[in-house]
Amino acid sequence: MSPLLFVLAMEYLSRLLRKVGKLRQFRVHSRCKRIGQNHLIFADDLMLFCYGDSQSISLIHRALKTFGNCSGLQANKAKTAIYFGNTSISFREQTLRHTGFSEGSFPFRYLGIPLNAKYLRFADYDGLVDKMLSRITCWASRNLSYAARVVLIKSVLMSLHVYWAQCLLLPASVLDRITQICRAFLWDGSANLSRSPPISWDWVCKPKATGGLGIRNCKLWNKAALGKYVWKIVNKEDSLWVRWVHSIYLKDQEWWDYKPKSSAGWEWKKLCKVKDDLHSGFLEKAWAQHKYKISEVYDWLQGNNLRVVWHTWIWNNFNSPKHAFISWLAMHNRLKTRDRLERFDFCEDSNCLLCGNATETRSHLFFECPYSRRSIDMIAVWLGIKNSCYNIDVAWLHWRKQFKDPICRKVGTAGLASVIYHLWFARNHAYWFKAVIHPRILCRGICIETVDRSRQLITGSWTRKQCKWLYSLKGCIL
Ligand SMILES: [Zn+2]
Repeated sequence: MSPLLFVLAMEYLSRLLRKVGKLRQFRVHSRCKRIGQNHLIFADDLMLFCYGDSQSISLIHRALKTFGNCSGLQANKAKTAIYFGNTSISFREQTLRHTGFSEGSFPFRYLGIPLNAKYLRFADYDGLVDKMLSRITCWASRNLSYAARVVLIKSVLMSLHVYWAQCLLLPASVLDRITQICRAFLWDGSANLSRSPPISWDWVCKPKATGGLGIRNCKLWNKAALGKYVWKIVNKEDSLWVRWVHSIYLKDQEWWDYKPKSSAGWEWKKLCKVKDDLHSGFLEKAWAQHKYKISEVYDWLQGNNLRVVWHTWIWNNFNSPKHAFISWLAMHNRLKTRDRLERFDFCEDSNCLLCGNATETRSHLFFECPYSRRSIDMIAVWLGIKNSCYNIDVAWLHWRKQFKDPICRKVGTAGLASVIYHLWFARNHAYWFKAVIHPRILCRGICIETVDRSRQLITGSWTRKQCKWLYSLKGCIL
C-alpha cells in the first residue's frame, strides 16, 4: 500500500478510536483519564489502552472490526497481544476467548527498546549488551590497531548506546558493563580485559583538547541525553508526553521545585534527579532559550578540565592515527618503558634495548638515547630544519617554530609523531627479536609514511609551492 493511502487509512482508525473514547460506556485507563488517550500509532505499530472491563474491551474490539470491514486491513493475530494488569485469571481467559488474541508478557519490545510496567531488570538490557558483544566478536579476529579500535568504539559501540540512552536512564550496573566492554575492546581487542589498562578510563573519556581520547563517558552522556525531556517540560513543548506528564505528575506545580512522590515510578524519579542535576546548568547557560543540544550539556557536565597545549600536535590530521595514539600514550608517560615495568616488578633488567647504556625511561627513549638522537636528527635534516631539542615535552614546539608555512608545519610535526611511533616500534622489535633496526632503515620508514599520508591529504587549496615542497621531500627520502 502506498504510504499516503496508509496514513489516510490510519487517520480513519484514529478518528474511530477517538469516537469510542468519547462514549459514556467506555472507560479510559486510569493514567490516561485526563488526556483521554486510548491509542498510540507509530508507523504500523498500534497500541490500544483502556480500563480492564469487558465493556470497554468489546468497544475497542468492535472498532477494530469496523475498521477491518471498511478498509480490509485486519490485525495480524500472530503479531497482536493483549497485556493485562491487575485482572483476574477468569477475566483474562474470557477476554482472550472473546477477542481471539493471545496474552503477551512484559517486557515487550517497542522500536527496539524493552517496555515494562515496572522497572526494567539488568537482564532486560541484554539486547544492548549482546549487540555490543556480537560486534566485538566479529572484530576480534582482525588485528586492529589501537587507533582503529578507538574509531570503532566511537562510531559503532557508542552509537548503539546512544539510541538507548535517549529513551531510558540506564541503571549504573548496565552503564558499568558498557564501559567495561569498551575498555576491554580498546586495550585487548576482545570483550574481556586480561591486564590492567595503561591509563584510566577517566582520561580516555576526556575531550582531546584536555588530554583525552574523546570517547564518550556513558553515564554523563545518558544524563545529557535525558536532559532533553527536562528541556521539553521547561519549554512546555506541545507533545503528548509533556501533556501526559503534566496531567499525571506535575499537575500545576512548578517544575524546578517539583519533588516526585515516593509512589512514583523508578524512571520518573530518575528523570527528576536528572532535572535537579541540570538545574544550575539551565540557569547558567540558559539552555531553555534555544534548541537543546546534547553535546553542549555533555560538555558542561564534564566540567572545566585544563587544556593541554600538545593536543594540536597529537591530533593534527596529518598524523597517521596509529602514530597519534602512541604519541598520546608517550605524552602521558604511559608507554610500558622498562623503568616502569621494573617498578611494577614485571622486569628485572631496565637497560635501554637500543643502546644498552642507560635505564630505559621515557625521557631516555625520547630522545636522549644516542639511537633516538641519531634518528630524530636525520629526520630534521630531511625536513630542512635544525634540531637541538631532545625533550619530548617541548621538541614539537621547537619544530613548529621552524616552519613558516602552515601546511609544512603540519607535515613536519607529523614527522615528529612518526619518529616517536617508530622509535617505540624499534624498541619492541629489539625486545622480541633481539635485533636493533639500523637507524637509517628506521628513518626511511618514517619518511615514506609521512610523505604517503601527506599526499593523501593534498587538496585544491594547496599552493603550487606547498606541493613542490612535498615532492622535494619525496625525492630525497633517506
Ligand atoms: Zn638508549
